Parts: sequence; C-alpha cells; structure tokens
Amino acid sequence: ERYGERKPIIVLPDEVAERIAAGEVIERPASVIKELIENALDAQARDIKIEVRGGGLLLMRVSDDGIGMPEDDLERACLRHSTSKLTTVEDLERLGTLGFRGEALASIATIAEMTLQSRASETAEEDAEQPASWITLRGGEVIERGLKARLPGTTVTVRDLFYNVPARLKFMRGARTENGHILQLVRRTALGYPGVRFTLVLDEHIALQTSGSGDLKAALTEIYALPLNEMLHEVERGVGENCRVHGYVGNRVLAQSGRQYVTLFVNGRWVQSRALYEALEKGYRSLLPKGKHPLLILYIEVAPDEVDVNVHPAKIEVRLAREQEVLNLLTEAIQAVLERSPILPEEVRFP
Ligand code: ADP
Ligand code: MG
Repeated sequence: ERYGERKPIIVLPDEVAERIAAGEVIERPASVIKELIENALDAQARDIKIEVRGGGLLLMRVSDDGIGMPEDDLERACLRHSTSKLTTVEDLERLGTLGFRGEALASIATIAEMTLQSRASETAEEDAEQPASWITLRGGEVIERGLKARLPGTTVTVRDLFYNVPARLKFMRGARTENGHILQLVRRTALGYPGVRFTLVLDEHIALQTSGSGDLKAALTEIYALPLNEMLHEVERGVGENCRVHGYVGNRVLAQSGRQYVTLFVNGRWVQSRALYEALEKGYRSLLPKGKHPLLILYIEVAPDEVDVNVHPAKIEVRLAREQEVLNLLTEAIQAVLERSPILPEEVRFP
C-alpha cells in the first residue's frame, strides 16, 4: 500500500511559485509599508506620506516626492527580479541602496491590488502638476491603466492585501496590532532619516509627523512626542580606523518595560541583535531598574566589507566580522556618558 502513495515530482507552476515567494517577502501589512518607504528613500524622497486604513488590510498608500519613474518603467518595475539598483554580481559588494532584489513591487502586486502612479522628475516645469500614468495590478495581472495629474514623485496604493492568500489573512491580528507594527516601523525609519519629513496617517488621524530638519534630537522629540532634552546624552566614540558609534542614549528616567525604544542602525540599516542589546544594557549596569530597558538611538558604522547585510528581506539580522570589538565599544560608550549624567527622580511614561 505505502509504495503506491508516492506522488511524482513536478516543477511548480509560476503562479504557485510566485505566490509562495510573495508570502515570504510580505509577512504582514507593515512589510508592505517597509518596502514602499525603502523605495521612496532609494528614490531620494525628502517628504514621505503614509496613509493606512483598517490596519493596512483595507488600504495602504505611500506617496513620495522622489525621482519617480518614466511611463515605460511602470510595468517593468512590477516584474519579479526587476530593479534599477543593481546590474552585476560585483554591485552586491558595494550597495548604496536599501533595495536591490527587485522583488517588492512584484510580490505586493501578486497578493493584493496595487496601483502604481509615478512622474519622473526630469520633466520640465517641475513644480506644476502634469499628467502622469498609472497602472493597477491585481493578482499579478494589469487590470487597468490611465493618466492623472500630479507633481514629480511616486504614489503606490495597496488594497485588499492577502485577498488570495486566505491562510495568511486568517492569522492577521486585527487593526490595532497591525497599526502598532506600522507605527514602530515608521518611528524607527524616521529615526534613521532625520533629514526626511515623514507623515503617518492611521485611519484619518496623524499618528506621527517629523519636520525633516535633519536634527536627530528634534526628530527624537517629534517621534516620541515628549520633551526629552535633559534626559538624553550624546554619544560619539570610535575605535580603530573604521568602527564608530554615535547617537543619543536616554538616562535611567527613560527606562521602559519593553525594548521597543532601543533603536540601532548598522551602516544605515536598522538591525535587531540580542548580542548588541546585551552589550548596551551592560553599559547601563545597575542604572536601569531590573527588567527595564533603555531608550536610545545609536548608529554604528563599520567598514562595508566587515558587515553582511545580504540576508533574507524579511529578516533584520546582521553579521559583523569583528563583533567583539563592536560590543565592547557600545558598552564603553554608554558607561562613559552615563558616568557624567545626573540622576533624576521619577520615571517617564510614554503616551
Ligand atoms: P528594488 O527596490 O529591490 O529595486 P522593487 O520591486 O522594490 O525592487 O522596485 C523595483 C524598481 O521600481 C526599483 O528598482 C525602482 O527603479 C522602481 N521604483 C519602485 N518604487 C519607486 C519609487 N517610489 N520611486 C522611484 N522608483 C521606484
Ligand atoms: Mg524595493
């Protein structure tokens, strides 16, 4: 009996393979927002507006004032493995952009309805509205196209996410949870780019807005909606030729019960790493109450060939060639600033 059960091996039809791949890149609504914001940043946007309805399942829209795309590129941009950011294998070694896989737009278009509208910025009369083309794809197929006047830049609108992936839809946690993930993501992206103006609108109300002034301390205050000034200490420290850390660390007054206020970037990319967290908390020593975590934002810079970021798109791991050196630097940098900081009385609660 058992011998008869074996099924033949087949190569999956493209449609099935594409839907599986798309589900790996797009885990939840916040993954869509992440990819669209990264595209806007790669397009040198200075002003990025994010609009979300129904936790992202109803609608997500990201508009930017970046370099845009010419009409001919709209459809090509939605094909799998199509990118303007990479041409050779060697380019992978010296990436200057957040994206490079050419998978995001294709993935989103496969498991949602996506409208892509863009106007390239090299056209004349930059500041006047001009007709720009748009296309709508659903389940990976172009279903509509047209023209609409706009300023240079790109707008991507995503509706009905996971409409054809019922298993994924079943696991969505409701608008509150998804909005929470989106807010976290926009907060940390805005912390990574204080020179860019971000606006996040959740169900018609402004959940976050930064000025894009380029001042990190101002951005921190805008993002957390608190006057943090006296509670933050500037960090600026290096070791060797190519290993530096800078940013701000909060004193013990800002201790929080979760790690969501710990924001770390390695060479411009947001990362999560237990080893890095532990090194930071070691720097605080007994200054943090037990079970509490700090508020801080630190940018770690190492030589590009000492860090491997080419991991899975949905993951945020980072591999450092000289990890121990970086860990020690973090611990020492924090110890050094906190030794000089006054101890303040009560804890601060975040809104
Ligand atoms: P990747 O970012 O890895 O190149 P994507 O699928 O995210 O892949 O995007 C495909 C291409 O579409 C990009 O390489 C870029 O040329 C173009 N594109 C996407 N979003 C934008 C945008 N907001 N502004 C300008 N061009 C964009
Ligand atoms: Mg991209």
